[in-house]
Order: sequence, then C-alpha cells, then structure tokens
Amino acid sequence: MDERATKKVVIDAGHGGSDPGTIANGITEKEYTLKISDYIHNRLDEMGVPNEMSRTDDISLDSNDRPKKIQSFYGNGNDVIVVSNHINAGSGDGAEIIYSLRNNDTFSSKIAKELEQAGQNVRKYYQRRLPSNPAKDYYYIMRDTPNNETVIIEYGFADSNGDDVSQIKNNWQDLAEAATKAIVEYAGGKYIAPMGSNYYTVQKGDKIFMGNNGYKLYEFKPFKSDIMI
Ligand SMILES: [Zn+2]
Repeated sequence: MDERATKKVVIDAGHGGSDPGTIANGITEKEYTLKISDYIHNRLDEMGVPNEMSRTDDISLDSNDRPKKIQSFYGNGNDVIVVSNHINAGSGDGAEIIYSLRNNDTFSSKIAKELEQAGQNVRKYYQRRLPSNPAKDYYYIMRDTPNNETVIIEYGFADSNGDDVSQIKNNWQDLAEAATKAIVEYAGGKYIAPMGSNYYTVQKGDKIFMGNNGYKLYEFKPFKSDIMI
C-alpha cells in the first residue's frame, strides 16, 4: 500500500444487471462503465492507492443498495473519494463532471483538465440541485453518500453527433487513464504513467526483478514501466 495516499477510493460502475443505462451506436453504458471502472481499479492497485469497486460484475444495484455498498468499504468519511462512472445521452458531445454541493470543484476541475489532455473536450463541471429541494443534490449517489467526496464522470455521449462515439469505443482506456491520474494525484498518491500502450509479453529466459525490496521474482503486470528486463 502506498502510504502517501491520504484518501481511499470507491469506484462505482454506473448501472448494471437489469439496468443497462444508455444504449446507442453499439455502446451499452453498463458495459463501458464496468470496463472503465475495472481499468481504474487495476491501475490504482498498481500504484498502491486503496480502492474498491461497487460492482465487479453485471449485477443490478438499486438506489438503496448502491450507496450502502459504496459506504460498506471505507465508511462515510470525507477521506473517501467516490467516482461514479457513466456514459451520457442527449446528443451532446464531450465529457461532463458533476460534483456534490458539499464539495468544491478542485477534484472535478482536475478530472476535466486530464480528460482534455487525453483529447476529450469537456463541456462543463458543475453541481446539480434537486428541484424540489435545492439544498440537496440532484443525484442520489451524492445525497446518499453523505460526507464522501462523490463525483459523477460522464465520459462522453453514446448518441453523440461529434466524435464521442469513436472516442468511447476506441479510446476508452485513454479516458480511464485520465481519470486515474486525477484520482491518484488528488488522493495524494504517486502517479506512474503506463509506458505507452505497448504491452510486453514475458518471454522464456527474461529476468524480472522488483527494485525496492531487493531482488525477487516479480508477478507479471502488463505495464512496461514496472519491469526491468
Ligand atoms: Zn448513466
């Protein structure tokens, strides 16, 4: 574990099971939210940032179960970041980040900056209020995770008339990596970039060592930056 990280992370793959979310142009939201969440989870593990996922399979979580599950891991403190991953609908183009009324925009603006650096345009980062009670957040995922720092990331529009459809289908790892970088740095951990997109396949005869604990056989992970050949 990276003792530098001062915050813990719960990654929420939006929708799932009987609730597919948005479906358009061959994109089913619940599948991409799980892929993106899984990617972030694996990267955070690599960098030693404590994290859990609200779901790891295609299961249904209703609006009662989901916040309970989220808070079951690290509790309801403000040292817990909750990142709820989504794909948008409504014919726009670009990413949106929504943050809760109890938080400022530091984390959201960081996510926006990283997504822009990954080539995605960002429409806005903003707060959304419940019309019937403007003192409350619009989204239950924020209302029902009190004290946690909860954000929703809409990575792009499945029904975009711009380039979001190809960005989601072809570049979702880049978008997930952008979110990962923002999360790790905001959590106080040390971000280590993956070395390009070239995965190295370990060959017979390779010697693989881990640097910081003396020499020992290293469990293979697919990021070149981690291994010395
Ligand atoms: Zn959604």
